[in-house]
Amino acid sequence: MAVHGGLLRADTPGNGHVVDITEGVASVAATAGVDRGLVTVFATGSTVAVTTMEYEPGGVHDLQTLLDRLIPPSGSYEHNRRNHDTNAHAHLRAAVIGPSESIPLVGGALALGTWQQLVLIDFDDRPRTRTVTVQVLS
Ligand code: ZN
Repeated sequence: MAVHGGLLRADTPGNGHVVDITEGVASVAATAGVDRGLVTVFATGSTVAVTTMEYEPGGVHDLQTLLDRLIPPSGSYEHNRRNHDTNAHAHLRAAVIGPSESIPLVGGALALGTWQQLVLIDFDDRPRTRTVTVQVLS
């Protein structure tokens, strides 16, 4: 098995900011020069997540609104109390969505739907520089 890969970096303002990383992942995957394989995408950090969605302003707004309702920043959290921290909601949201996705590479292209983008969501409550590791297994 061969492994090719690369890193993506994104500066974000945090607070649920959504970044479309589809093109970046596709460009790293293309450097592998393989027809079939599996592309893994992993964001480093306990307050960041990777998922797929239809990346358009309405969908982004609805997802942010849903997460605000399910896991509000102003909730009562043990993490914040014990650690004098403020971002327990960010850790919880990241844990629920997860840090990675695996996408089949078919015919040299990511097997994503037309309305399915790969996104990074930064839940921390301050600006961050995020690193995403992309690996192609073939
Ligand atoms: Zn924390």
